Amino acid sequence: MAVYDRDTDVAATGGYHITLDERAQSALRRLVAPEIMRRLLASASALRLRDRDMFWDYRGRVLGHGPDLSGSASIDVDRITLRTLLAEAVGEDLHLGRAVSGVGVDEHGMPQVMFADGTSVTADLVVGADGTHSVVARHLAAGPTNHPAGIIGFSGRTPRAGLTVPEQHRLGTRSSMAIGPRGAALYVGFLDPVGNAALDAPELSTSITTGPTYIWGAMFPESARTDVLRDLHGTALRTALLDRFRDHRWAGHTLEVIARTDPVSVAAFRFNAASTRATDLAPWAAGRITALGDAVHATPPTAGMGAGAAIQDAADLLAQFDALPDGTTTTLTDAIGRYEAQLRRRGGEVLSAAMSTVRLILATNTTLGALATAALSPVVAATARLRRPPSSS
Ligand SMILES: Cc1cc2nc3c(=O)[nH]c(=O)nc-3n(C[C@H](O)[C@H](O)[C@H](O)COP(=O)(O)OP(=O)(O)OC[C@H]3O[C@@H](n4cnc5c(N)ncnc54)[C@H](O)[C@@H]3O)c2cc1C
Repeated sequence: MAVYDRDTDVAATGGYHITLDERAQSALRRLVAPEIMRRLLASASALRLRDRDMFWDYRGRVLGHGPDLSGSASIDVDRITLRTLLAEAVGEDLHLGRAVSGVGVDEHGMPQVMFADGTSVTADLVVGADGTHSVVARHLAAGPTNHPAGIIGFSGRTPRAGLTVPEQHRLGTRSSMAIGPRGAALYVGFLDPVGNAALDAPELSTSITTGPTYIWGAMFPESARTDVLRDLHGTALRTALLDRFRDHRWAGHTLEVIARTDPVSVAAFRFNAASTRATDLAPWAAGRITALGDAVHATPPTAGMGAGAAIQDAADLLAQFDALPDGTTTTLTDAIGRYEAQLRRRGGEVLSAAMSTVRLILATNTTLGALATAALSPVVAATARLRRPPSSS
């Protein structure tokens, strides 16, 4: 086996975190050695150890609470930590700095991968795990496998200790989501892989987050005004984001998490989404070139399920091969066909979950939606105050 990636440094990636639910962790256990899994858990933050998620309006009023997480097996892990551990698991089979420019078949009908540097390799099987702009899946589908979802996101990291005490208290040790008029939304994730470690073994931790941290994601409907933001970086981007929220009348304290973020950590990313219909996914006949993850079912981050789904795809593919008796061409193609059926089903599920939030955000970007959000928020907030569980702040 060989893994080729165009990146030259696995740690050079977005600084946000990835949620892995029980199914994703169980799939990962089938893919990596127990020691890697233990190091991952020692570097991860357990959802069961944080407070219930909270929903706010744009003025900082409570709208409702998420489910009780005390029985949750899900974890949050820095994307950099996850990628570094996965790279270690692949070991010498990982070849960095190898950008794939195309795929095809050689003169014997075997899959071939072409690289940007003019070299190529032939293989028994090629799996495109090359993300939203996949070269491999585009080749198989003869066109793009996803499209912009209409939202642009911006993320950043803010140490909890950097906030004022009242805002630390309001945000608490939980993740939260706030939606305001005109499609402006702010997700604030809470990550504490030290205080809330999923496995209490600090000697195994390789987490890049070393203290309680908020990882936020600001979202706006795409427009000419947000296109301008995509060219900004650092402090200029942070200031422009704050101005946009203020234009939408967000309360000043709700923006502290952005105002006090490390400007170096602020980055923009466009949401891309594949179809929510399973039958639209992987629209090709099974063969010796296939794909997994965002290459097939590009998933906006609004459900926190995209990476977990990619890991489950990989485990399913492996399980199909493990079940093969003797690898004749027919049985290999059948196995890939069975894998791709699972891939379509899972892709449809995670996309439906992620797109429901995207649609909600976009719905507030109409005149009626903006009026309804502004008018109903105080009413919902007052109702939520009456129903608030005694333990929450
Ligand atoms: C802000 C944000 C937050 C998110 N949060 C979560 C979360 O909490 N939980 C979750 O499950 N998901 C989350 N996601 C989604 C998740 O990151 C993706 O769904 C997941 O990374 C998809 O994995 P993948 O391996 O398919 O693709 P990717 O992670 O995109 O990996 C693709 C790889 O292919 C390489 N590559 C691409 N093109 C080429 C080429 N031509 N040649 C060689 N190599 C190439 C890239 O360098 C990269 O290493 C989030 C996404 C974003 C943007």
